[in-house]
Amino acid sequence: MSAHARPHVVVLGSSFAGLTTARYIHQKAGDHVRLTVVDPNPYLIFVPNLPMEVFADHDPLVTMHMETVRFHDSDGTTFINAAATEIDLDNRRVTIVPTDRAGSAPESLAYDMLVIATGNRLAYDQIEGFAEHGDTVSSGHYGNKLRRKLFHDYKGGPVAIGSARFHQGLTGKPDWLPEAVAACEGPPLEIGLTMAHWLGQRGLGDAHKITLFTPGEKIAEDAGDAIVDQFLQIATEMGFGYANNTQDIKAITADGIEFANGTSLEAELKIVLPDWVPHAFLAGLPISDERGFVLTDLRMRNPLHPEVFAVGDAAALTVPKLGSLGHQQAEIVADQIALQSGAIPESKVGEAFHPAILCFGDMGGHKGFYIHSDTWYGGTTSVFNMGYAAYAMKMAFKEMYFRTGGKPVSWGMPFTEFTMDHGLSRI
Ligand SMILES: Cc1cc2nc3c(=O)[nH]c(=O)nc-3n(C[C@H](O)[C@H](O)[C@H](O)COP(=O)(O)OP(=O)(O)OC[C@H]3O[C@@H](n4cnc5c(N)ncnc54)[C@H](O)[C@@H]3O)c2cc1C
Repeated sequence: MSAHARPHVVVLGSSFAGLTTARYIHQKAGDHVRLTVVDPNPYLIFVPNLPMEVFADHDPLVTMHMETVRFHDSDGTTFINAAATEIDLDNRRVTIVPTDRAGSAPESLAYDMLVIATGNRLAYDQIEGFAEHGDTVSSGHYGNKLRRKLFHDYKGGPVAIGSARFHQGLTGKPDWLPEAVAACEGPPLEIGLTMAHWLGQRGLGDAHKITLFTPGEKIAEDAGDAIVDQFLQIATEMGFGYANNTQDIKAITADGIEFANGTSLEAELKIVLPDWVPHAFLAGLPISDERGFVLTDLRMRNPLHPEVFAVGDAAALTVPKLGSLGHQQAEIVADQIALQSGAIPESKVGEAFHPAILCFGDMGGHKGFYIHSDTWYGGTTSVFNMGYAAYAMKMAFKEMYFRTGGKPVSWGMPFTEFTMDHGLSRI
């Protein structure tokens, strides 16, 4: 088959969702497709383990940095160091601007199938006062900023940790998918527990100094009532303060946080997660909802343009915005592309998207928590445990991710779920 007779698959984004999707496409579709990956960054920062690196006084730009291009290269995938700026759906072309050198000229890239895995903007720029007075742990830059504050400037005052309001798209939202008011509330729980341990370690106090806040009725509501109630009981016993129904962050000041519901919290450190906002080039397209999240069916295919797929945070079905949901979607999309290109028969296609929250959080002191739940989506799985095993699994996942280049072995996820749900949970 000539190279150009093969369908050209273009994957936009090469972080958790895009990298894993591209690697599964390579594995499942092989020479049946020509594969190109586009990302402005030739690396990813392993964000889920960033908080623990900050509290350990490690520079996450060094320790959590994973080069991605060499994995694409070893698969024979073309990597283009560029940002997509426009999609012409009718003519199946993407405008890209190379990002390795300022001043590069826009180019047009044709595709037969397009996978959108560009994540979202984490919109700190929408929070008044964030740059001057706020902190977070979602990037190397902000992680290092907080690290410098913690280890050099922090005077032991009160700490507020929580989220701004998330604005989910509602057009085309299936009935089984609830509306979330926070995009991803595992991190605030994790940061709170790790911070409490860090305060104790340094003789600066304990959880009594920390208030967790949420725009919603309950923090991390997507974990399901049973797990959240159990967590809140433990957090209360540890001494954490709790503020719910804050609605949104109105402003961050030198003295604390002002909320949209008229209340406020005094805090020396204000550690926040923002709204997750789709990239501007996706807003207004017929494949997107009213916010710019890409609409798909349960095979992650857009109904109006079946040659377009979405994976990870960019997809409207990914709620909450969780890497583990993107991982499941990556295999689904690779199956669809392998099927369509004739690489595999229908009988080899895996299950459709069936979301479940799967989350490993750090608690400090080599302990972690594990959540596996689908009750928020109407299911019956609800597992929550804390201990050394959850921490060990979190560390093992990162190691496996770095070693395999974002393509954990096929038994990895089911094995993890099985052992944590039934075996290791009491350790
Ligand atoms: C502090 C924190 C802790 C977290 N912990 C966990 C956890 O423990 N478990 C978990 O499952 N999830 C966790 N998450 C959520 C997880 O990080 C996200 O769900 C995940 O990163 C989404 O992956 P993605 O590839 O869809 O998007 P992203 O990781 O945002 O990656 C998007 C990629 O697209 C690229 N891109 C952007 N714009 C363009 C463009 N125009 N053209 C081409 N490429 C583009 C970017 O450079 C990037 O490489 C955490 C999030 C935070 C903030």
